[in-house]
Amino acid sequence: MKATTQVAIIGAGPAGLFLGHLLGLEGIDSIIVENRSREYVEHRVRAGVLEQGTVDLMVQTGVADRLQREGLVHHGIELRFNGVGHRIPLSDLAGGRSITIYGQQEVVKDLIAARLAGGRDIRFEVEDVQLSGIAGKRPSIRFAEAASATTVDCDFIAGCDGFHGIARGAIPDGVLSHYDYDFPFAWLGILAAVAPSANELVYARHERGFALHSLRSPTVSRLYLQVDPGTEVSDWPDDRIWEELRVRLATRDGWVLRDGPVIEKNVAAMRSFVVEPMQFGRLFLAGDAAHIVPATGAKGLNLAVADVYVLARAIAAWYRTGSSTLLDAYSETCLKRVWRAQEFSNYMSAMLHRYPGTDPFRDRLQVARLEAVSTGEEAARALATNYVGLPLP
Ligand SMILES: Cc1cc2nc3c(=O)[nH]c(=O)nc-3n(C[C@H](O)[C@H](O)[C@H](O)COP(=O)(O)OP(=O)(O)OC[C@H]3O[C@@H](n4cnc5c(N)ncnc54)[C@H](O)[C@@H]3O)c2cc1C
Repeated sequence: MKATTQVAIIGAGPAGLFLGHLLGLEGIDSIIVENRSREYVEHRVRAGVLEQGTVDLMVQTGVADRLQREGLVHHGIELRFNGVGHRIPLSDLAGGRSITIYGQQEVVKDLIAARLAGGRDIRFEVEDVQLSGIAGKRPSIRFAEAASATTVDCDFIAGCDGFHGIARGAIPDGVLSHYDYDFPFAWLGILAAVAPSANELVYARHERGFALHSLRSPTVSRLYLQVDPGTEVSDWPDDRIWEELRVRLATRDGWVLRDGPVIEKNVAAMRSFVVEPMQFGRLFLAGDAAHIVPATGAKGLNLAVADVYVLARAIAAWYRTGSSTLLDAYSETCLKRVWRAQEFSNYMSAMLHRYPGTDPFRDRLQVARLEAVSTGEEAARALATNYVGLPLP
């Protein structure tokens, strides 16, 4: 089968869905092809902290009804070390900006619902997506669906297919520079059917390793433990997880962690990764397809949204005026924010995690940095400004 569209988008994660949504508002036609089922992508538990800019964009583009009803607006986070909690008043320090707790899978559900309501093309469970002609003016994608092959000719292809996707690999050898760093630890994350034990996120540094108390709703908690890379979920029965969380999150004044049924458990590697440039010919990479940040800074999903905001404006300008100035600058515009987010996520990771073979000297430095942030207004302001997110470009 043959078809045509203006923009072919590979991947129905936050990047691909948001791009399709923004293009639709500009009257630009697109197709989204996704190799998983709708059910799968709508229930994939990942990030949950939305920056102010992400929330504002959802509100301005009409996909925030449920977000505004169910999202939990937070004005601060807690840094906990040596058994004492220190609140960082994010909004006071960052000009009133805040974060909103709303699961990534809920953003995905809202964007899929909006796309289907608008009658726009989205194909789930496609196989064997291939790109061709990306160096020319009329590229195409080809995919298999229900035993038939479809080729879609287009003006642009957006590779929004995550870190393990195929779009990045379509760029000829030698074009991309890769920058990566694997952290010497991973995160074991659980979702638990129990009311959160704290009203705000708690980032805890402990001699046994980092722990994070987060949440998804008034009845669902999200908790993380630093574990060794290569850890299997089966190494950590639920009782062991709760016991370890209790130790790492304990305070001198007897804070109590509520436990409950674990409804989801996963181990995620902690990695930094960037490719430069994020474009080649008529192919543009966005989100995790182009960069990964360690989750400590809560930036992955928000960076994906920032990329496609820049890309949608650049594509719209091309159709409106014929000028490729914004498209040509896409990579450079995005990479400034990407590297700031890498720097912040690395800073947070280094401040809070236990590194293998850490000596008492490094231990003291880590605590000194935490104290500087907890008691010094300038250091706290820098953290707050980065955490709530820089304004969209
Ligand atoms: C396991 C995991 C846990 C995470 N946890 C957190 C967290 O706790 N906190 C946090 O802040 N961030 C977290 N992140 C980061 C955050 O979720 C990502 O940054 C975000 O999902 C990026 O969105 P994206 O749309 O770029 O990529 P993705 O969400 O990965 O979407 C890519 C889409 O492309 C599809 N796809 C892949 N290959 C193909 C193909 N060949 N053909 C068609 N479709 C394809 C995928 O199925 C997927 O739907 C996590 C990431 C991972 C991988």
